[in-house]
Amino acid sequence: MSLVRRNIKRALDDRKLGRAVLNSCLLSTEKRDRLISELDFQSTRAAARLIRQRSLDENRPLLERFKESFEKAGGRLHYALTAEAACRIVVDILLKAGALQGVKAKSMVTEEIGLGQALHRAGIDAVESDLGEYIIQLAGERPSHITAPALHRSKESIGRLFADRLKIPYTDDPQQLTEIARSVLRRRYIDAEFGVSGANFLVAETGHVVVVENEGNGRLGASLPRIFVAVTGIEKVVGGLSDLAPLLALLARSATGQRATAYVNALLPAPDVSDAPDEFHLVLVDNGRRRTMADPDFAEMLLCIRCGACLNVCPVYRSVGGHAYGSVYPGPMGAVLSNLLGPRMMMHHELPFLSTLCGACKEVCPVDMDLPGMLLKLRERAPKPAIDRVAAAGWGWAMATPARMELAGRTVRTIGRAIGAMPAGSTVKTGMSFRGLSREASDK
Ligand code: SF4
Repeated sequence: MSLVRRNIKRALDDRKLGRAVLNSCLLSTEKRDRLISELDFQSTRAAARLIRQRSLDENRPLLERFKESFEKAGGRLHYALTAEAACRIVVDILLKAGALQGVKAKSMVTEEIGLGQALHRAGIDAVESDLGEYIIQLAGERPSHITAPALHRSKESIGRLFADRLKIPYTDDPQQLTEIARSVLRRRYIDAEFGVSGANFLVAETGHVVVVENEGNGRLGASLPRIFVAVTGIEKVVGGLSDLAPLLALLARSATGQRATAYVNALLPAPDVSDAPDEFHLVLVDNGRRRTMADPDFAEMLLCIRCGACLNVCPVYRSVGGHAYGSVYPGPMGAVLSNLLGPRMMMHHELPFLSTLCGACKEVCPVDMDLPGMLLKLRERAPKPAIDRVAAAGWGWAMATPARMELAGRTVRTIGRAIGAMPAGSTVKTGMSFRGLSREASDK
């Protein structure tokens, strides 16, 4: 049994997990639906899609422009072709500055490149400062959702985790648990020598690095320590500040069912300002994005603004949660994106089959991405099991002429009788028993 199948079986057997994931998804979807209805959704998402499309169509000139503005303000830009190169750049920056302890804000791209592990290997202590990320860091887990990383955990399991790891009395009161995390993290901010974060958007015209968050942890991590490093994908660049309006309106509503996120930080390097970081670095990650931009079947995936709405409505995600996917990015967007990023395509080729193709993900996507269409195209590109390849080749050969069809039919009848599976006089529609053919063919 493959790892994904094992994960799914385990997830389906875990009733508590199923309930926690489903309840959280239903709640998020309900909040999202209520606030999305305040907008003219179709025209806002058409505008957002156009802005994001420009990010891809004019990616190189926009990044050039961003580089100019960002460096003029005093920032240092780095480009990483691979995940390993991106980690190496961050580690080198921190080691060179002697910054060995710091805080890290929630960021899917840092999960994608494995930055947490790379820092750990280099002897650099980075505590996750987003509450959900802090919980899963304590538990030694991966995020199970792109915007709600600890969605799979109940308050009781978080209470047990805190009692065990922080050596404190057990409580499952969410308010108390939050206060405990806050008191631990406050001390870490004060001592932090560096802050690391992702970035939601980069503004080419002005050089702003935009970080959207709800807890204020991103803002503290970007301003208190002497070194700040933002890490993001090359597709995140947009033209000007006005482009942010529809994107932010859709992101907050789609992700957390809010009219606006609590903090929208538009960060600019300010090395001469006494209470700003001395060094502001930005690491731009490729890791397969440039290759994807050139692929007409899948470039669209890079329009994604990581809102997580497609996860919340997906019947498969709702049943098994994020860990079952075995990839950093779960749900419908993860089933596509995980197969596009990294050193080569199709590194998670089972995931496109974890979909009912119901279309709910496309309906809610704030940039109107055709996720079902991309899932189907990925299924076509997925390596087929040897038996299916042989069966398909045999079927193709047999269907080429009426004589071959007749021969194949006779052969199947003879074999069927020989093994006792088919009474004399029964008929066979050629090819119908082959595995891996289209549903239409195998149902007839
Ligand atoms: S694919 Fe669309 S719905 Fe899913 S996370 Fe990306 S932007 Fe959101």
